[in-house]
Amino acid sequence: MPASLFSWYGARELQSLGERRSVLRGVIELKRFNRLKDALESDSGTVEAELRFRRDPEGWLVVALEYETTVQLQCQRCLAPIEHRIGDKVEVALLESEALEKHVPDRYEPLVLDEDRLMPAMLIEDELIISLPIVPRHERPEECDPAFVGVVQSDRG
Ligand SMILES: [Zn+2]
Repeated sequence: MPASLFSWYGARELQSLGERRSVLRGVIELKRFNRLKDALESDSGTVEAELRFRRDPEGWLVVALEYETTVQLQCQRCLAPIEHRIGDKVEVALLESEALEKHVPDRYEPLVLDEDRLMPAMLIEDELIISLPIVPRHERPEECDPAFVGVVQSDRG
């Protein structure tokens, strides 16, 4: 249910999601992500995401996040729109205080909870934002759209 991805979960609820090894999953429209939208050529499309909570043997509260989407970006070489697939699986350790951050095992990405609570959709949006390429471009120059390249050149001269 997408609704539950947009709910806030307090520290106690997160603990219980971990104890019960709960799974939250859903499909979210990209246009609902205000911060991500700014980096996209178009906000059409959706992201599929799944969060698996668990308490690991050392006591860390961990959420394994898996997501997949195709976003529209603008090629910085020819300025034509390009489709870019993003998909990844990350393990995030949810922390109630910053002091714990330096003890987190390397295999986890530390996340200090803001006011001891978490909205799964915000975590998904953060991950999408950091996985965007810094300079989006067609993989090979030949793939660039000559019509768009032409526009750029005539603009310059
Ligand atoms: Zn291009």
